[in-house]
Amino acid sequence: MSEHEGAPLSFPTEFYDAYIFDMDGTIYLGDELLPGVERMINELRRRNIPVRFLSNNPTKDPHQYVEKLERLGLPTDISDIANTVVTMTKWLKNHHPDAVVFPIAEEPLIKAFKKAGIKISEDPAEIDFVIASYDRTFEYRKLQIAFDAIWFHKRAKLIATNPDRYCPFPGGRGEPDCAAIIAAIEACTQTKCEMVIGKPNPEMLVEAIAGLDVDPKHCIMVGDRLGTDIQMAVRTGMVSAMPLTGDSTWQEALALDKKDQPTFLIDRADRLIPQTTWDDLGWTEDNWK
Ligand SMILES: [Mg+2]
Repeated sequence: MSEHEGAPLSFPTEFYDAYIFDMDGTIYLGDELLPGVERMINELRRRNIPVRFLSNNPTKDPHQYVEKLERLGLPTDISDIANTVVTMTKWLKNHHPDAVVFPIAEEPLIKAFKKAGIKISEDPAEIDFVIASYDRTFEYRKLQIAFDAIWFHKRAKLIATNPDRYCPFPGGRGEPDCAAIIAAIEACTQTKCEMVIGKPNPEMLVEAIAGLDVDPKHCIMVGDRLGTDIQMAVRTGMVSAMPLTGDSTWQEALALDKKDQPTFLIDRADRLIPQTTWDDLGWTEDNWK
């Protein structure tokens, strides 16, 4: 606990109607569940409280999250998972069903667009939206198409899957994320990205609780990033908890205006379960395995 010394930790004392979780840095780091996650999720499910998972990462399709959670010991229904592959596809279908798009993206997003019947093109003269995403196959050719579509033809708008600067890895490393691709396109076209569908856009939360008969004010959002997970909860008026197991630090949280701070700062995920239930179940900080 010493690394959290001085942190103003505070824990929920009641259960909420639904729990929405970020994954990376909140539920797991790399290929390991974080301490207390498994028993916490199992306890919520035992009480029939809905649990949903939400990721900004557009490089995986929801099936890959199902497989990963299953492998880590948390079998989960695909309908309980939403990421920016799901939300970007739905947003286009709902708002611009006839648009021609150029996704700067990896296979899962492109596949989802094709499956949804969204028209994809590499011809700058007919592109309506250039869609920046977390794309590890980004190259000069793609930048040129985006540049021609936005700057030369003055036709396309720039939108993006997520605002993240990097994706965290275990050991403190990471990979450049969507913010780098947005910046490259903005720099050469001198335009601004017009919409980012991922967290902190409240559209993500709407999607996460879709189909649940719950009031967002009685739900809790749990995530390790202030600028995305927590900010989305703030914009939606939802209670939030930030575990100190991922990206943002408690010092960064305290530096924000009070209204932008997480409701709860927790040192581990099972603090979401009220202390009275810890006592009833005989939980201690050490017996979580
Ligand atoms: Mg995270």
